[in-house]
Amino acid sequence: MTPCAKKRRVPLEGDKKNPKKLMTSYQLYINGQFVDSTSKQTFDSINPFNQEIVAKVARANAEDAKLAIAAARKAFDEGPWPRMKREERAAMLKAISDKINERKKELTKLEVDDSGSTIRKAGEDIYLSARNMNYFSKLAAMELTEPLTELSKPGISQNIVVREPVGVVGAIIPWNFPLKMAIWKLGPALAAGNTVVLKPSELTPCTAIELAKIIHEIGFPAGVVNIVPGFGNEVGEEIVKNPMVDKISFTGSTAVGKRVMALAAEHLKKVTLECGGKSANIVLEDADLDLAVDGAMYAIFYHQGQCCEAGTRLFLPKKLHDEFIDKLIAKTKRLKLGDPKDPTTDLGPVISKKQQERVLGYVTKGKQEGATVAVGGNAPNDAKLAKGFFVEPTVFTGVKNSMTIAQEEIFGPVLSVIQYETEDEAVRMANDSIYGLGGGVWSKDKDRAMSVASKLRTGTVWINEWHLISEKAPFGGYKQSGVGRELGLEGLKEYTEAKHVHIDELGSRDKKPWYDTVVPK
Ligand code: NAD
Repeated sequence: MTPCAKKRRVPLEGDKKNPKKLMTSYQLYINGQFVDSTSKQTFDSINPFNQEIVAKVARANAEDAKLAIAAARKAFDEGPWPRMKREERAAMLKAISDKINERKKELTKLEVDDSGSTIRKAGEDIYLSARNMNYFSKLAAMELTEPLTELSKPGISQNIVVREPVGVVGAIIPWNFPLKMAIWKLGPALAAGNTVVLKPSELTPCTAIELAKIIHEIGFPAGVVNIVPGFGNEVGEEIVKNPMVDKISFTGSTAVGKRVMALAAEHLKKVTLECGGKSANIVLEDADLDLAVDGAMYAIFYHQGQCCEAGTRLFLPKKLHDEFIDKLIAKTKRLKLGDPKDPTTDLGPVISKKQQERVLGYVTKGKQEGATVAVGGNAPNDAKLAKGFFVEPTVFTGVKNSMTIAQEEIFGPVLSVIQYETEDEAVRMANDSIYGLGGGVWSKDKDRAMSVASKLRTGTVWINEWHLISEKAPFGGYKQSGVGRELGLEGLKEYTEAKHVHIDELGSRDKKPWYDTVVPK
């Protein structure tokens, strides 16, 4: 057990040529201490660009999850955190934001190595992680108790709604925005006074443990934040099932989200589920064509298409189709695949070999079902990229909305282009999906765009934009894209229980309405 939060370096096993080579290792963070897993097992976090080991990470199992949950439970039931003054909690969250900012460069580099994010994307993520946490610190300071003015009547009663923390929160996150997702869970959960057990993705655990170090340095009370990297079926399910956890906040695929909801039902746990998407990007006939082409590329190819709200289905009016596609193909061909550390790289690798195979499998399926690959469609044939899990940016034309590539989440740089005749048809096809996360409309006429936007059954719609998610606005999904909302005041409230307090002002026995019902006067 090491009580300090220093980065440990251990010899890289099996590196016979260079036995002195050291590498980073990470422990679990439980009850304010950095510890090995009870099984002593570790797993390797792999750089998706060159397959080198980024770090050896302690592999939490169900036993470790139980220890972390017990620590969080004690910290909630007996510790100072939920009882602290709002301003004190806010100051500690602000300190997290400041320390992320101080360590921006180092965290960006680690995120690039661990996740294959391009340095431009990772830099933005770390900046936003700090900014988002700064916002949550302001929410932490906010008075959430609200008077119920419609109900309160002087001389009769005063009624208020008090917002209290839910308790112990189990937070489970994916690999596509590793630090930012950790902040999106920890920020509001802690701001509301909860304690947390966070499980990062087994594919990108590193920056979450660096975050644990930051939290440790700041001096959070033991057990308020516990971070247990490991695998979903081992540590994740224990967090979801354990009766000492009051709420699960999950971000990941819809398939796992369904499992999480089913397991959480055993104890009727509160759940927030942020799941998959197949977002429709509708270009109207009067759109600024060049802007819409660039927007469509940004919507799908940002982070190699590994964004939950990526614009994966592009709806084009028949009249614009050919000109639009010509421009789109020409520009897509100019995108540079490369080392994610190189600032001129547009697309890095996808997260893993398995993901690369999955994405290429969908390309095969699209061709089999009759769609046409207009550009891309393969792993690049480039010796410099041979060790990376790359997929060329791919555009399918001739797609029908019923095809697999238009219905299932691919989570890679693959765009399905679908033609439409009328706006109503575009809207109908856009909504013909099990998902409802994001969506976009491109038009010079704001009223017309707004009318289409209002018909889309999705949690976010951008007009002449994409990917802009603000910490101040609610984010989440309709249909199978999720349950509940993250971010904004609505996101904060998801981590609270609403308690109605009725304070009598009648002040006299005679005026009580219930005497005549059961109790004799
Ligand atoms: P995933 O569902 O495979 O895993 C997500 C997390 O759940 C990981 O930490 C994983 O270890 C854990 N997990 C897996 N099985 C589990 C189980 N049985 N019990 C408990 N935990 C379990 O998703 P992923 O591949 O890591 O991420 C990609 C998915 O995340 C995509 O579907 C994407 O759309 C979604 N996503 C959604 C949002 C959103 O806000 N809606 C944001 C980012 C990513």
